[in-house]
Amino acid sequence: MTKAVRVGNRIIGGGFPPVIQSMTTTKTEDVEATVRQILELEGLGCEIIRVTANTEEAARAIGEIKAQIHIPIVADIHFNSKMALLALEAGADKIRINPGNMPLEELDQILTLAKKKDAAIRIGINSGSLEKEFLDKYGISVQAMLESMRKYVAYFESKGFEKIVLSAKASDVALNVAINEELGKLFSYPLHLGVTEAGIYETAIIKSAIGIGSLLLKGYGDTIRVSITGDPKQEIPVAKEILKVLGLRTGVNVISCPTCGRCEMNLASLATRVSEAVKDMDTDLTIAIMGCAVNGPGEARAADIGIAGGRGSALLFKKGEIVEKVGEEDLFIRLMEEIKGANDA
Ligand code: SF4
Repeated sequence: MTKAVRVGNRIIGGGFPPVIQSMTTTKTEDVEATVRQILELEGLGCEIIRVTANTEEAARAIGEIKAQIHIPIVADIHFNSKMALLALEAGADKIRINPGNMPLEELDQILTLAKKKDAAIRIGINSGSLEKEFLDKYGISVQAMLESMRKYVAYFESKGFEKIVLSAKASDVALNVAINEELGKLFSYPLHLGVTEAGIYETAIIKSAIGIGSLLLKGYGDTIRVSITGDPKQEIPVAKEILKVLGLRTGVNVISCPTCGRCEMNLASLATRVSEAVKDMDTDLTIAIMGCAVNGPGEARAADIGIAGGRGSALLFKKGEIVEKVGEEDLFIRLMEEIKGANDA
């Protein structure tokens, strides 16, 4: 188990379930637009938000933003220690520094102020901005990222600063997984997972499911960010789904068959409607929506609630037993009655 690190009103690590993060796309100094976007993300289930602190005005705006939101705020201060100090003064719950562009000698003042403000620091290594010393020696590799992390963690510890979260992100999924496994083995600090520059929606969700999901499956990862080009609101449902299918979040798991020539009903439409209707429920339920008698009864019996389709109707199962035969036109309503009943129970 990793150490527990408190970030604002959240705990990262310490055996707590992974926390979902996102990052705003607004100009941080535009407080109104930034708060609006954060509140939308909160509503979807974002639990920690990162903003860019790329100008003095942006760093200073963090205080005003923080007063209007309900989740911890993290400042990405890039290569500028002055922004780190301003963001901490403004009340950032965590800042992210990148060893590739924040020399050790600039850290002392930041560590002192972060300690005073009880803020956490993420040491975030990125394959696209590796420390020159290690990039020259090893190229873009696990070794380069690991050596850089060792150096920075040792420095933080030598200064008595242990409110640390680690991350090493690569756009290459295999490298991303390999480096984070090493970090997970080597350090007891919480790990933030994400595949950097993961691309547009379809590509990003696949890269993230593999790159984040495979690490979570092995027990690594205390916070995650699914990075998708475009509106950050896209990121949260994907992050929630990754956690849900891995059993790290409660929620309704909908199993549905792909359908084939044996299917004699509009199963795709039913599965889509049910999936949409249950996506925000946080009850642990498995629903099976199956097209015929081949695998249908087996899956439907094994689920909490399920159907096995026939011609224009389906058998409805509940806790392994057949409850009734339902006409295709009534299936959605009957399934939802049973799901809501189980959800309210
Ligand atoms: S359950 Fe039936 S309809 Fe669905 S894919 Fe399998 S064989 Fe086809």
